[in-house]
Amino acid sequence: NAKKMGGNTYRIYYEELSKHEMENLMIANSLRNAIAKDELNLSYQPKIDIDSGEVVGMEALLRWENSEIGQIFPDKFIPIAEDTGLIIPIGTWVIKEACKMNKSMLDLGYPPMRVSVNISAKQFKDVNFINIIKDTLKDSGLPANQLELEITETFALIDVKNTIEMLSKLKEIGVYISVDDFGKGYSSLNYLRDMDIDELKIDKSFILGLTKNPKNASIAKTIIMLAHQLNMNVTAEGVEKVEDLLFLKSNKCDKVQGFYYSKPVTKDIFIDYLNEYNKETC
Ligand code: C2E
Ligand code: MG
Ligand code: MG
Ligand code: MG
Repeated sequence: NAKKMGGNTYRIYYEELSKHEMENLMIANSLRNAIAKDELNLSYQPKIDIDSGEVVGMEALLRWENSEIGQIFPDKFIPIAEDTGLIIPIGTWVIKEACKMNKSMLDLGYPPMRVSVNISAKQFKDVNFINIIKDTLKDSGLPANQLELEITETFALIDVKNTIEMLSKLKEIGVYISVDDFGKGYSSLNYLRDMDIDELKIDKSFILGLTKNPKNASIAKTIIMLAHQLNMNVTAEGVEKVEDLLFLKSNKCDKVQGFYYSKPVTKDIFIDYLNEYNKETC
C-alpha cells in the first residue's frame, strides 16, 4: 500500500487502507509513545493454591489507556506490538514493573509470592532476553524463583532448538517456567519431554466450559494427570464458578486463577484483596 513518490519518500494512501488496517496503524502509532506517556499499567490476578487456600502468586496483565483511543485490551494490541517490534521495549517494561511490584510486596512483609509475566515469541528470540532477565532480577532484588515466565506451546515449537537453549539458561538463573493456554495450540507432546518446564496452565476454554460439556472435564482431568506424571505443577485458568473449583479440587489440580476469586486489578486493589482474603481465611 505504500507507493514510491520519488527519492526516498513513501506515502501511504489512507483511502486504500481498510478500516481495520487504519485502526491498526493508529494503534501502532499511539503504542510507540505509550511507555513515554506513562499510559501502560499492570493489573494483577491472584493465583490460589487449592489445598492451602492461600494466594501464592499473581499474574501480571498489561493494560493500556490512551487519551484518544481509550482503553485497549491486550488481545487487540499485543499482536500489533509483536508485528511492529514494540513488544521488545514494552515486554521489558512489563518484566521490570512486575519484578519491582513483587519485591515491594516482600518488603511490605507479605509472604513470598510468585509473579508471572507473559512472554511473546519475539522477546524469547531476542539475543538480549537473558540479560534483561538477569539485570531486572539484580536491580529489583527479587529472588529468581519468585519470577515466573509464561510461554505458549505454539511459540515454544517455532524454534525448538532455541527454546530448549533459552529454557536451560533460564533454569540456571532459577526462573520458574510455565506453559500458558495448554491444550489450545497444536500440542505435540515431545516438547514436554525435551523442555525444562515447571508448570502447565490449562487453557481457560476447557475450564469455562467445564460443566457445559463433559469432554471439557475429561480433558482438564487428563491435563492434570499428565502434568503430575511429568512432575510438573498445574494451574487452571478461567475458574468462575464454585462447582468448577470443587471439580478441580477433587481432581488434584494444584492452583487456580479466575473471576471466582478476583478479576485482574491494580496493585492497590490487589493488596486490599490480599488483606481481606487473609482475614476471611484465618
Ligand atoms: P492469558 O495470559 O491467558 O491471561 C489470562 C486472560 O484471561 C486475561 O485476559 C484475564 O483477564 C482473563 N481471565 C482470567 N480469569 C478469567 C475468568 O475467570 N474468566 C474469563 N472469561 N477470563 C478470565 P487479558 O488480561 O485480557 O489478557 C489476554 C491475553 O493477552 C493474555 O492471556 C496474554 O496472552 C496477553 N497478555 C496480557 N498481558 C501481556 C503482556 O504483558 N505481554 C504479553 N506478551 N502478552 C500479554
Ligand atoms: Mg498468561
Ligand atoms: Mg498468554
Ligand atoms: Mg492463558
